[in-house]
Amino acid sequence: MSGDTIFDKILRGEIPSKEIYSDAEYYAFADIRPQAPTHVLIIPRKPIPKVSDATDADRMLLGGLILRANEIAKQLGLAEEGYRLVINCGHHGGQEVYHLHLHLLGGRQMSWPPG
Ligand code: 5GP
Repeated sequence: MSGDTIFDKILRGEIPSKEIYSDAEYYAFADIRPQAPTHVLIIPRKPIPKVSDATDADRMLLGGLILRANEIAKQLGLAEEGYRLVINCGHHGGQEVYHLHLHLLGGRQMSWPPG
């Protein structure tokens, strides 16, 4: 399963991005259209299109994705006030880029329900 979304191009360095975090399994970068004072996208390097495409074999990868987000939130000073983690899935979920990504949003009060 090899992806060719805009995020795959970012991973390959073909499109520039503002790096926030990088390791062998994950990459995190600033969202180009931030919806909060802090808006980071954390992506696995493995190209899973949607969260619903993940399988039991991806259990560690999915857990690691959330743990990385927590670490990044802490590093960015969001841990005390809190933050929101979002995964949009498919058309009704509002997913725009079909390479699994976790939104980390913080720096302002969030409301509920989401739009
Ligand atoms: P989705 O709606 O798929 O959950 O979120 C996709 C996110 O990717 C959006 O928040 C959008 O602003 C962001 N995005 C789309 N294209 C680019 C890009 O080229 N660079 C960066 N940094 N973010 C992008």
